Amino acid sequence: MAEAQFRTPKGTHDILPDDHTYMTYLKKAVRHRCRQAGFKRIETPIFEKKDIFERTIGEHTDIVEKELFLVKSHHNKNDDDDDFALRPEFTASICRSYIEHGMQQLPQPVELYAIGPCFRHDRPQKGRYRQFNQFSLEVIGLSDPSLDAQLIHMLNKIFEDVRIRDRLTMQINNVGTAENREEYTSALKDFFIGKERNLPELDRKRLKTNPLRLLDSKEEDTQILLKSAPTLDQFIGEESKEYHNILLEFLDELGAEYVQNPNLVRGLDYYNQTVFEYWDIETKGKNAVGGGGRYDPLMEMLGGQPTPGLGFAGGMERIIWQMKQAGVQAPNKDHVDVFVAQLGPDAKKMCLALISELRDKGVHTLGALGEASLKSQMRLADKFKARYSLILGQMEVKEGVIILRDMEAGKQKKIPFDKAVPEIIKLLGPDKLDTYTLRDHMGE
Ligand code: AMP
Repeated sequence: MAEAQFRTPKGTHDILPDDHTYMTYLKKAVRHRCRQAGFKRIETPIFEKKDIFERTIGEHTDIVEKELFLVKSHHNKNDDDDDFALRPEFTASICRSYIEHGMQQLPQPVELYAIGPCFRHDRPQKGRYRQFNQFSLEVIGLSDPSLDAQLIHMLNKIFEDVRIRDRLTMQINNVGTAENREEYTSALKDFFIGKERNLPELDRKRLKTNPLRLLDSKEEDTQILLKSAPTLDQFIGEESKEYHNILLEFLDELGAEYVQNPNLVRGLDYYNQTVFEYWDIETKGKNAVGGGGRYDPLMEMLGGQPTPGLGFAGGMERIIWQMKQAGVQAPNKDHVDVFVAQLGPDAKKMCLALISELRDKGVHTLGALGEASLKSQMRLADKFKARYSLILGQMEVKEGVIILRDMEAGKQKKIPFDKAVPEIIKLLGPDKLDTYTLRDHMGE
């Protein structure tokens, strides 16, 4: 391969056609399950005021502190208020949209989903990119454990659809209310008085800014100290406990498997009550394929009315990685049914109309419209793995016929030119035609 002068920026990648089949398959599974459950699709801008992320995700989280991609314009260099950031996730943007468009007037809960790229200026490594794709499901306006259970059940279905559910565990916890967590973090801080020296540097900093993050610290020293520290569940109020127990009962009723994980806190400030993540059975919390939870405080953080909310975000690259590990073949509809070869100006003209008619009838058709010899056109047909070829040379034009070649069998015959389309349709079988039309989808 020639040395390319330009490459994708660090932490980004091209999604080449072979990978796109996985992306399409996964998006279809998401859309299908969302439609069944009455979720509506929403799209928000790729960039927003960075305030939106700072206020909700939290100033002392990795996402905001280290990973925001800032977008500065030349026009407002001195005006910090107008600094924008590429979205690191969807939830904050969707809640901004809920408030901006008065969606509290709609029947509640409002159920929305989004699919698209997100951006985090992280140190790139396996499963961790600077541009990656998420699908995000949000249930806004009501709080009830049955909604949490339903969302989790729906996600289980999506993971079953793409055949990776058995590679994952669903970790779940209840992190209580903001007050519960405040009491707990002050107890944690008290516990660590005099012990800070034993903490690794990063965790010493976290103890000051976001002590809950210590719970899922990967540092062994921290985990050893935590063994004798107060635990979050000692501070969770009765109401939250009851909420959690009812949720677990509903999950049992739905046959949804879960692992109760008292250390699961999720890194974002807006969560309360239920939090959950889908982990790889082997690598556990590293490279989780998705996570979510309840974010009842979020709307108020954005200046809206108190409005409960619940959501989940799945990392599409990580899910696709899992699908490949599981040996899942994404269906590929890019096969070529017919390759049309031609020679001479009259043939070219006739072939343009023929190609168009075949495509309209739902036949995947490629044509060699250059000036190459018929022999090299046939080599192309082989390379494209075309099922049939239609060959129109000067002689055939004169005789009003066309050559139909079965590429696999290596057999060919002459047929009348105007029988080419019906003959191909007969050979392929009417149910193999790709006859998607917009009208089908408009219910006409
Ligand atoms: P989070 O809300 O941060 O847990 O993100 C939700 C999901 O998005 C994660 O579980 C990952 O699957 C995916 N994700 C987050 N950050 C990245 C990244 N930098 N690269 C690839 N996927 C990511």
